[in-house]
Amino acid sequence: MSFDSILIIGAGLIGSSLARAAKTRAGVKTVWMADRSADVIETVERLGIADGAAEGTAHHYAAKADLIIICVPSGKIADVAVDVLPMMKSGAVLTDVGSIKGAVIDAIHPHLRDDISFVPGHPIAGTEFSGPESGFAELFMNRWCVLTPLNEGDPAVARLTEFWEALGSTVAVMEAERHDTVLATTSHVPHLIAYTLVGTAVDMEEVTGDEVVKFSAGGFRDFTRIAASDPVMWRDVFLSNREATIEVVERFIEDLTALKRAIRWSDGETLLDHFAKTRDIRRRIVESGQDVPNFGRDD
Ligand code: NAP
Repeated sequence: MSFDSILIIGAGLIGSSLARAAKTRAGVKTVWMADRSADVIETVERLGIADGAAEGTAHHYAAKADLIIICVPSGKIADVAVDVLPMMKSGAVLTDVGSIKGAVIDAIHPHLRDDISFVPGHPIAGTEFSGPESGFAELFMNRWCVLTPLNEGDPAVARLTEFWEALGSTVAVMEAERHDTVLATTSHVPHLIAYTLVGTAVDMEEVTGDEVVKFSAGGFRDFTRIAASDPVMWRDVFLSNREATIEVVERFIEDLTALKRAIRWSDGETLLDHFAKTRDIRRRIVESGQDVPNFGRDD
């Protein structure tokens, strides 16, 4: 298979899911894990999901691994990459799973080595839960994984594609900038809207916290699930994907204003046209098999 040994740095939802899946599905012989927290390492050992686990960035494993996958929050990925790059053995591959690509690649770029392939990645899969106990091997099944290689001709792209396909994902290769714009539209701004809407509902004087819970309708409940996503991760996403997020937010505000205007002027035709269009998108998502319940916190 594509890699004999891997080191996963960051043993949370994504890192621990990768550890669980790597051996059973991708034929990886040895899985090492590293995390900055001693408690997390203890949990990894108790769960028995790695062949070795260490606190920090585990330089002794970094020196032996064929593949290093960085699974820490986006704001920390570059620091971790800069820390492990000098330790890596020649010919090894470095990747990450971060939700934003451009800013992270820019920060790592000056530190790259000619004999190490760096192929950034982003599995479009997740839940609203964090930590090693929330991971599961099937998380990446039937989901997309986007790779944003600096050099598409690098043989490491094919090896990493084989790895993700073995985990059940379909791989798409695209430029980092395009990835960040697409994800701002399909994931980052939806999360921002959920965080805003739930905050607004809770702040409204006439709707007390209790009533929000008691009378929460299906639509609002879905928003609360998204707005329960990890605060640190999402802070990092917005701060690192600032430009694309702001661009999509501006478009959203314009569209919201247009719908508000249609409601104000009793323009039912505009509302119907709009809702028919969005219903069609929903149908296409379901038909493409991307509607997996409770998955997709970080899509
Ligand atoms: P998570 O469950 O919070 O796990 C992250 C782990 O990394 C935590 O144990 C954290 O420790 C550890 N960590 C933080 N800084 C570290 C460092 N410098 N060195 C070693 N370990 C460190 O997060 P996650 O949901 O798995 O997300 C991880 C990455 O995957 C993020 O970049 C995110 O953008 C990306 N992603 C997430 C999803 C999703 O839905 N969750 C989907 C696709 C991609 P502490 O708890 O002590 O901080």
